[in-house]
Amino acid sequence: MSRNAESTAFRSALEVIRAVEPRVADAIGAELADQRESLKLIASENYASPATLLTMGNWFSDKYAEGTVGRRFYAGCQNVDTVEALAAEHARELFGATHAYVQPHSGIDANLVAFWAILADRVESPALRKAQARHVNDLTEADWFALRRELGDQRMLGMSLDAGGHLTHGFRPNISGKMFDQRSYGTDPSTGLIDYDRVAEAAREFRPLILVAGYSAYPRKVNFRIMREIADSVGATFMVDMAHFAGLVAGKVFTGDFDPVPHAHIVTTTTHKSLRGPRGGMVLCGPELADQVDRGCPMVLGGPLPHVMAAKAVALAEARRPDFADYAQRIVDNAQALADGLLRRGATLVTGGTDNHLVLIDVSGYGLTGRQAEQALLDSGIVTNRNAVPQDPNGAWYTSGIRIGTPALTTRGLGATEMDATAELIHTVLSQTTAGTGPDGAASKAKYVLDPAVAEQVGKQAADLLAPFPLYPTVDLA
Ligand SMILES: *Cc1c(COP(=O)(O)O)cnc(C)c1O
Repeated sequence: MSRNAESTAFRSALEVIRAVEPRVADAIGAELADQRESLKLIASENYASPATLLTMGNWFSDKYAEGTVGRRFYAGCQNVDTVEALAAEHARELFGATHAYVQPHSGIDANLVAFWAILADRVESPALRKAQARHVNDLTEADWFALRRELGDQRMLGMSLDAGGHLTHGFRPNISGKMFDQRSYGTDPSTGLIDYDRVAEAAREFRPLILVAGYSAYPRKVNFRIMREIADSVGATFMVDMAHFAGLVAGKVFTGDFDPVPHAHIVTTTTHKSLRGPRGGMVLCGPELADQVDRGCPMVLGGPLPHVMAAKAVALAEARRPDFADYAQRIVDNAQALADGLLRRGATLVTGGTDNHLVLIDVSGYGLTGRQAEQALLDSGIVTNRNAVPQDPNGAWYTSGIRIGTPALTTRGLGATEMDATAELIHTVLSQTTAGTGPDGAASKAKYVLDPAVAEQVGKQAADLLAPFPLYPTVDLA
């Protein structure tokens, strides 16, 4: 692809936008500049390709396409059918799945589709049957009452939030916590690792309808073969939410027992994290759940986004190329280099290291809360996010952890040497920052003291580190 074509495409687009609302064109340009300048270690973010980005800005956005390929509730969906079928085919081939549903607008939406599919498949409820049969208007008050009661009795067992689980796995701030009677499994306090015997014990006691595996902040592999055996032993449906690590599955870094697709009844994911596609979600499953999954829209989803499905097809085609496997391996190599660099400098890491794309630093060793550490790093040009550690004494708001991940910097081309330099910068900031005090002199969980000269110096070093690895090198807006 010529440098010229991509620059011309984005420049022309901005020119067209500028003629209508220049402030939006300016903000888009400023966003690229900001992203180019920041050392982005947010584990859930990445940089999609110019082809993927360009695929989202077109007239597919104008089309309603409720239904599935070949069975639409709107006329004129032949071109949407083409791109949706392509995205699903690439997803099936890439992940070795029998069925792929590419309509979910995000990871949370994909999980809702999966939950409803499992409930509809497993729960014996005449009211639910009616609802699923699209005769929602025929439901009586009594039906609704029965439906709510029957569904409200269902149980979910998932990973606890402070061990790295996700809000959508049955926690209160999310609808899943209201839909399900939830219990969670944590990690072993001494090793920080999932203790499968404890998961099995919890499953035996609780007898969940759904066993969920998957995480946003667990720095290790999960053995999905063992998890499936546990689910089978209690008759649970085994669901894996691979939102964070789908890129490592696609790139064949996670294989055998660690590849969720052959072991789970149903797998959900985002497409914009390590998978490096457009912002969106996806569900993979076997033939048993396929019909219910395909009812995602309008059961829980709004109309599909054909422009995003088209971009999913492009990004998934990219992920099927051999260089994506190299990329996925480099993500993990970089995370391990970063972890080693931090450990050598005396940092404490949850589980003592990583075998995926993320590292969780316990910053209490530096005398800081996650919030203080996050802000001090941000002042120094390093973008991370605070995150609870297991049994976190500072709770979910202040936290004691910093989560860092390598998918984005790996896309830019940074390698092991730069990861060691990054570890040095992080360690410098954290060891030079001290906890501040409130107006009354009491210790604060938010205030901190960092010499601005240190922040400035680290910021300059971070910029130097990024300079040889330009972001979107083929895109020149000037
Ligand atoms: C990010 C994430 C989600 C939510 O994805 P959205 O696209 O933000 O809705 C769901 N599950 C897990 C495990 C995640 O990490």
